[in-house]
Amino acid sequence: MSPAYGSSASTATPAHRLDVTTLKGVGPSMAERLQRLRIQTVQDLLFHLPSRYQDRTRITPIGALRPGDEVVVEGEVQGSEVKFGRRRMLLTHISDGSGGLTLRFFHFNSAQQQSLSPGTRLRCFGEVRSGVTSLEMVHPEFRRLAPGAAGSEAVVEEHLTPIYPTTEGLQMPGLRKLIDQALTLLQEGALALPDLIPTALLPSGMGRLRESLLSLHRPTPDIALSQLSEGGHPAQQRLAFEELLAHQLSLRLLRQRQRLHVAPALRAPGPLVAQLQARLPFALTGAQQRVLDEIRADLQQPTPMQRLVQGDVGCGKTIVAALAALQAVESGLQAAVMAPTELLAEQHYQSLRGWLEPLGLKVAWLTGRLTAKARREMLAAIESGTAVVAVGTHALFQQEATFRALGLVIVDEQHRFGVHQRLALREKGVQADGSHPHQLIMTATPIPRTLAMTAYADLDLSVIDELPPGRTPVETVAISDERRDEVVQRVAAACAEGRQAYWVCTLIEESESLQCQAAEESVVQLRQQLPQLRIGLIHGRMKGAQKEQAMNAFKQGELELLVATTVIEVGVDVPNASLMIIENAERLGLAQLHQLRGRVGRGSTKSSCVLMYHPPISQQARERLGVLRESNDGFVIARKDLELRGPGEVLGTRQTGMLQLRIADLQRDQALLAPVGVAAQRLLQEYPQQVTLLLERWLGERQRYGDV
Ligand code: ADP
Ligand code: MG
Repeated sequence: MSPAYGSSASTATPAHRLDVTTLKGVGPSMAERLQRLRIQTVQDLLFHLPSRYQDRTRITPIGALRPGDEVVVEGEVQGSEVKFGRRRMLLTHISDGSGGLTLRFFHFNSAQQQSLSPGTRLRCFGEVRSGVTSLEMVHPEFRRLAPGAAGSEAVVEEHLTPIYPTTEGLQMPGLRKLIDQALTLLQEGALALPDLIPTALLPSGMGRLRESLLSLHRPTPDIALSQLSEGGHPAQQRLAFEELLAHQLSLRLLRQRQRLHVAPALRAPGPLVAQLQARLPFALTGAQQRVLDEIRADLQQPTPMQRLVQGDVGCGKTIVAALAALQAVESGLQAAVMAPTELLAEQHYQSLRGWLEPLGLKVAWLTGRLTAKARREMLAAIESGTAVVAVGTHALFQQEATFRALGLVIVDEQHRFGVHQRLALREKGVQADGSHPHQLIMTATPIPRTLAMTAYADLDLSVIDELPPGRTPVETVAISDERRDEVVQRVAAACAEGRQAYWVCTLIEESESLQCQAAEESVVQLRQQLPQLRIGLIHGRMKGAQKEQAMNAFKQGELELLVATTVIEVGVDVPNASLMIIENAERLGLAQLHQLRGRVGRGSTKSSCVLMYHPPISQQARERLGVLRESNDGFVIARKDLELRGPGEVLGTRQTGMLQLRIADLQRDQALLAPVGVAAQRLLQEYPQQVTLLLERWLGERQRYGDV
């Protein structure tokens, strides 16, 4: 264990235990303002890093200025003039021999005007812009220099000037003073901020935590601003490394704790599994078989499986889940399948019945909309164990469903569930004897492996990286809605060939009722334009039974065109549907568009997708549509999505608190993820006390999640 840093370490208070109110000038109202910046302790203050820096340490020759520079210049006033444009303004021209610069003031008084008389020497700080005739600074900070003082005042500031994120009622100077107090305490040794990561585990080039913090708050002038702004400075990397490490450790501990639980060790797959596999009209792909083998090995262990299966839309995750469920059934246990929407739950119910009923097994299904009687029957079947598999939305678990013997919980389309729900679920299935069910989590949001291992470090990961054979990529085009009529004709032509089509109405997701309204209007219009077609409608405001009816009619081929909202986004599977029109496609994110498009291209016919947009569209939206036109590969699209939106949004963990990073950036710091993984492993094995201290330092309160 490395010693606490500093000579007076024994009397020093750990920085994360020292409340900000112990600092001078921090009363209750200041504490509240600091709280808005998520600053509660002196350590939080130290970890409140500048969002950028200004360089006031050197004087730049005017001749070397470029627009956009934020710099200090020095020059002699050549002359001033008051101009009357739309507004009155004062223009002062200065020169330093290397070039000339105009200072533009909109607010000025005559005293100020007088003080800028020709020959006066000025030092100015501001942002350089290109003016009409020369470069200029608008309202620079400036001061007059005493005549002949150039040499003695040559050094402006000793350090780069940190610019911190501020909040209302707490401006930069006030915040700087508080941070200065904290830094002074740190330098005097009154604050303990020991190095908790043994040097051997740090990537080379990274220094001590204390020095890293000092240099980020007060960077020396030799540090390149560009390196700081990209987050690539070793001091920034040192902090990001430690933060990522702490998160990684908390997830790994969660997983270790999970391993202490007992789960029913399932038998190896027997005759039922073999029968189902023999009856399938297709052979499993190599990737499905490999992932299934991984699951089977886990299920035979006496500790609960915690496995995440990632696989692109349409890769065939459902059958893998069904075969896993059957393994539980063969061991005399039940399986529960959870879906994020009723529509998907309904569809899983149909698929599972189709596969399991011929084997003489009963599948139950539970949603919020069953009649009281049906519900009672389902619950009874689950409780008595006559139903071996139960399918439902998360209502299944929230309600008082009691399983006779639950052996496996399957969560489909995990990206729709938050991390908390996932953690909470683990507890729900605990049996009377204290044993935990196995858990299989499936997601169609494929994220790069290192990122997945960071975000889901508490799970084992399997990837289905192959689509069933015979699938042809969905041909995707983007068309302005000014050409809507052509698109309608395209639907007519496709349906005339016996194909089926989806017409998806999208609006901003928050407004479900508007979206439903749009779908209702579209269906009226399309029925007029395409009287020869049988057109159905499905949206979130319809009753469950109506939705089911529409979906079934479409599945049976009784409807040729299905007008829908994004309720069909996840999981819906109708292989004969081979054309999809998405209205207002520019409003949806990449992941959602990819999911939606995944509803077609499931059969052997060549499928197409028309992304209809309403011009004008933003550059970002144009880029998104371009990505979809060019690629059908979920991994490629996910990578692009990460670039465009950042991991917080993509993983959907922004609000969950699990990955609330203050310093590290999963995108920017990807290169750290692998060494973080290695360091986490070794810390857990060789330095367990350090692990506790790191978690306390970085997660504090939030460490609780680790106890779930
Ligand atoms: P997802 O991974 O998106 O959940 P599904 O499980 O809905 O995909 O499967 C998509 C379609 O592919 C279904 O119609 C399913 O029956 C079919 N399918 C699954 N596995 C195979 C396979 N190995 N060969 C052919 N078709 C398959
Ligand atoms: Mg699915």
